[in-house]
Amino acid sequence: MKLAIIVPCYNEEAVLPETTKRLCGILDDMTASGSIDDGIILYVDDGSRDSTWSLIEQFSGADNKVAGLKLSHNRGHQHALWAGLEWAAEHADAAVSIDADLQDDETVIPKMVGLYNAGVDIVYGVRKERDTDTYFKRTTALMFYKLMNVLGGHVVYNHADYRLMSRRTLQALVSFPERNLFLRGMVASLGFPSAFVYYDRKARFAGTSKYPLTKMFSFAVDGITSFSTRPLRFITYLGLVFILIALGVIIYALVEYFNGTTIQGWTSLLVSVWFIGGVVLLACGIIGEYVGKIYIESKGRPRYFIEKETGTNRATDARS
Ligand code: UDP
Ligand code: MG
Repeated sequence: MKLAIIVPCYNEEAVLPETTKRLCGILDDMTASGSIDDGIILYVDDGSRDSTWSLIEQFSGADNKVAGLKLSHNRGHQHALWAGLEWAAEHADAAVSIDADLQDDETVIPKMVGLYNAGVDIVYGVRKERDTDTYFKRTTALMFYKLMNVLGGHVVYNHADYRLMSRRTLQALVSFPERNLFLRGMVASLGFPSAFVYYDRKARFAGTSKYPLTKMFSFAVDGITSFSTRPLRFITYLGLVFILIALGVIIYALVEYFNGTTIQGWTSLLVSVWFIGGVVLLACGIIGEYVGKIYIESKGRPRYFIEKETGTNRATDARS
């Protein structure tokens, strides 16, 4: 079987030499032991501004196991990964997706392949420990998984985008028409026989995280709004609660009025105006998220453009 390892990279010059060395080593071992017939590392350069692409060209020139796609500009991790998975759906029997920074233990890839050879279609890499992530990242991640499950979008707990997928699940995945990509949710919704392998998440080998807090937050909002319409239902319930409260307040105000007491009420009025204003804006924002998604999807723009390729022809020629 032909295995492709898909690695999205954005400004990863600091880790690429090490990543290439380790992944090539693993592919060689697996080829030698017969668990795969052929392996390729496909780097997807997500519009890097450092020397990432020239490194990829260099590695691909030196080793025919290495190939690369260069996207025309930075599209974000999910889209870069998608570009690689689309390629793999056509040219490989199975694909493992992994980050370039070696945070996800690459030594469990043979285990994933073993499960694939035993007939499993999707093997999820699940983090055992997150000691190496900051306390903040761990707690926000946990909150995210909890919220996601409460809202009905199913994701595998502590699984990011480190996984093996068989050709038929890759083809099922790339048939999804949406432009808003939240891959871990999309893959979890496919079904097919699946299994887990557990690993310890390490610290980034080198370089810095490309996911600052703002990107993480918008990724979480995207994930939730792509998979669940429950926030909309929540607004409806909230509206009902507000109407009930308003009824109470109306009755109170009328009783006071007919009793002839002057209502002092300035503070309560001011507070409720601001509070209700906030709630209404929040509700508009939530609806806006969905409307925005509909807008993006209705345009149906291409997900990415490939500017350059290296080693991909050779990889497909040798394999056909
Ligand atoms: N990445 C990408 N495009 C981006 C941001 C990140 O392709 O716009 C890649 C990055 O090179 C890495 C992976 O996505 O291989 C995960 O990014 P990172 O390690 O910075 O995220 P973290 O692990 O800190 O969440
Ligand atoms: Mg990382």
